[in-house]
Amino acid sequence: MKRLKIVFSTIILATLILGLFFRAGGTDKKYESTEFLFDTYCTITAYSKNAETAVSAAFDEIARIHRLTNFFDENSDISRINKAKANEPIKVDPIVIEILETALEMDRESEGAFDVTLAPVSMLWKFDEGEPVPPTAEQIKTALAIVENGGIEVDAESLTVTKLSDETKLDLGGIAKGYAGDAAAKVLREMGAKAAIVDLGGNISCIGENPNSKDGKWRIGLQKPFAPTGEYSETVEINEASVVTSGTYQRYFEYGGEQYHHIIDPSTGQPSRHEFDSVTVVGGSSMQADCLATAVYVLGREKGAALAGKYGVDIYFN
Ligand code: AMP
Ligand code: MG
Repeated sequence: MKRLKIVFSTIILATLILGLFFRAGGTDKKYESTEFLFDTYCTITAYSKNAETAVSAAFDEIARIHRLTNFFDENSDISRINKAKANEPIKVDPIVIEILETALEMDRESEGAFDVTLAPVSMLWKFDEGEPVPPTAEQIKTALAIVENGGIEVDAESLTVTKLSDETKLDLGGIAKGYAGDAAAKVLREMGAKAAIVDLGGNISCIGENPNSKDGKWRIGLQKPFAPTGEYSETVEINEASVVTSGTYQRYFEYGGEQYHHIIDPSTGQPSRHEFDSVTVVGGSSMQADCLATAVYVLGREKGAALAGKYGVDIYFN
């Protein structure tokens, strides 16, 4: 009888210890790696037995998505579309179809605040040049007319994209990284990661429970606009979710005492002006959160909150 008791106590103790062990990550190994993709530093941290292989596979997927969607790579699917003539169906990867279908939905739902055909206008702003100069009103007017008279048709069956005007150009800068966040999370899950965090230049996706916190929640600091990196205006506590921020401080130049940033209001062709400098969206899909952050920034507090409400996501203005 005494022996049975000892056996039972040992089993209970072992279960308790194992429980604690797994809660803290257990046999799951932590692995973290950083790569430069999408023009930004991307860091993935994963907890699993094969964390290193899982992270490497996730990076391969992000790199593949970047290659397909990169505006500056002349062999990308997006460049092939941009170089094409009107009414010429261009065969693209299913990933590009999926991204463009979401982009068109967001364009409709945001009443044009999110527009991936805005490239003729955003190209004028030349944020990537040494000393950029704002475009003239005439240049903006011409580019806005291209956007207005152009557009695309997406055919998911034949996997083709057709431009409505020769000059139509696409820029997936406001959505592709979000898609990559979801895709990386999917790869990590499929490869057995119980917990992981994918940080694509501040575009964050959390998977599973945080093994380093008692309640399993992830705590994500929201960058204070124009403050040193890592200075936060607030911290959000989340379970498995994505946290995506669109901010004027992320890409801008100064000219004649004015700041010109990269979130363009399609109704004016000018940087969208508000009294806040960033919008953070917390939601289930990183791609959706990415488009919504841009769209809510352009729409402003009231209309932005209405759009966020439609999608059931939380928003933060800073
Ligand atoms: P994000 O950092 O997600 O807000 O995206 C900003 C990027 O999206 C810019 O650098 C442009 O490439 C592109 N963009 C700017 N304005 C818009 C807009 N109104 N709709 C869609 N994409 C935009
Ligand atoms: Mg965005």
